[in-house]
Amino acid sequence: MLTTTVDNFPGFPEGIQGPDLMMAMRKQAERFGAEFITVNVSEVDLDKKPFEISAGGTVYLAKTIIATTGANVLWLDAPGVNKLIGRGVSSCAPCDAPFFKDKKVAVVGGGDSAMEEALTLSKYASEVFIIHRRDSLRASQAMQQKVLANPKIKLLWNSEVTEAKGEQKLEKVIIKNNKDVTTSELVVDGLFIAIGHKPDSDIFKGKLEMNETGFVKNFYEKYHTATSIPGVFVAGDVTDAQYKQAITAAGMGCTAGMDAIKFLEETKNS
Ligand code: NAP
Repeated sequence: MLTTTVDNFPGFPEGIQGPDLMMAMRKQAERFGAEFITVNVSEVDLDKKPFEISAGGTVYLAKTIIATTGANVLWLDAPGVNKLIGRGVSSCAPCDAPFFKDKKVAVVGGGDSAMEEALTLSKYASEVFIIHRRDSLRASQAMQQKVLANPKIKLLWNSEVTEAKGEQKLEKVIIKNNKDVTTSELVVDGLFIAIGHKPDSDIFKGKLEMNETGFVKNFYEKYHTATSIPGVFVAGDVTDAQYKQAITAAGMGCTAGMDAIKFLEETKNS
């Protein structure tokens, strides 16, 4: 929902806006009877049969669950960053870029998200700095080319933000060059963090097996999307630490749906 142009989802030769893609998927699912309940899940009980899902004061019962809670923004662990979130520090250029019209901004990260943030910001800001900790980008060639061809975007290589400074709002960032170990200041009004995501798996903690960074473990056995609990399946960024694409998540979602149907058929008399 937060991304802009999605260029790598099959079927859209001209690309499609992220929210438009999501609404189209939702409409398509509704055409087949899927019901959407838009509330936060507060707790899941996977010891009970059927499973219990508590959400918005209601307990929903389910014979199977597919966990597709995705991943959330990872914030930079540097002094001042947390304090200034919403006051110059952001993780969402499509949401906040218009606030930075004709201002200087910086983006931290070297992946596709950082490139996307920088390109969006360049439509409004006067100057965009990408601060990246290495001397080469992780982003795809296509994204790199767009960024390198944009005259408003400047890359600061081998650079790390060590502090965000400002009282009421962000005023500047302190940058350490990790090659020559020099420190400098960069005066910016906005700092956009795009250093990756962490799996949104808290509601399954202690209930489903996870790796040390919180990705739900996928036991690729009889059911390819199985978790540590029979009947609970998993798909997308909450389990996938490697590919993290809309299309890989969608494909895995389809596999999980088919696994759930097969599980229901196999256990219908038990
Ligand atoms: P990512 O590919 O994991 O990149 C994270 C970037 O942040 C890396 O360059 C990494 O540096 C840097 N980083 C990580 N921790 C850091 C720290 N503590 N301090 C400074 N820098 C740090 O994450 P992403 O860019 O969010 O992309 C995630 C996935 O979504 C990828 O598969 C990507 O292709 C996909 N995606 C696609 C699109 C698109 O196609 N339109 C848009 C957005 C995302 P290093 O390179 O040194 O590790």
